[in-house]
Amino acid sequence: MIIKLLLLAVVVYVIYLFFFRDGGFSKKIDKDDSETMVDCEKCGVYISVKDAIIKDGKYYCSKECAKLS
Ligand SMILES: [Zn+2]
Repeated sequence: MIIKLLLLAVVVYVIYLFFFRDGGFSKKIDKDDSETMVDCEKCGVYISVKDAIIKDGKYYCSKECAKLS
């Protein structure tokens, strides 16, 4: 009886791990999307999209570059 309960616990644990890993994987994909690298229109420095300044549909690494061009 105790062995059956232990087996059930292990099965539940494995299923839990499977879904947990699956969720973590999806999260990682989303993170990768937000960290797509783009180059600054002015100086050509590579920056992640989330850190970039977008002006007139172009990416800039800093406010200075966005202002100068
Ligand atoms: Zn720049």
